[in-house]
Amino acid sequence: MKKCPLCGLVNPLEGLRCDCGYDFTSRTAASLLLEKTGQRNMVIGAALIVVGLTITGFTILFASITGFYLIAWGLVAFGVAKVIRGIVQYSRRTRV
Ligand SMILES: [Zn+2]
Repeated sequence: MKKCPLCGLVNPLEGLRCDCGYDFTSRTAASLLLEKTGQRNMVIGAALIVVGLTITGFTILFASITGFYLIAWGLVAFGVAKVIRGIVQYSRRTRV
């Protein structure tokens, strides 16, 4: 097993390319793949933040009826982490 230096995913030893686009033979990332992965992570991350904040907003809004509210910080934090990862991947698309 070998770990991808770019995304941290563990790949089989005979694997030539990681899911994120990192090429183990040339030790470079496929620029286009990395760009797409980065963009996807940013979009999914942003969506998670929106969902997390919406859940939080709605439960606070209905707290007077339901008697409780939920703050979906976990979801928001996960979304933020994903966006950051996406930005890092995206920024590495031409270099590496
Ligand atoms: Zn990878």
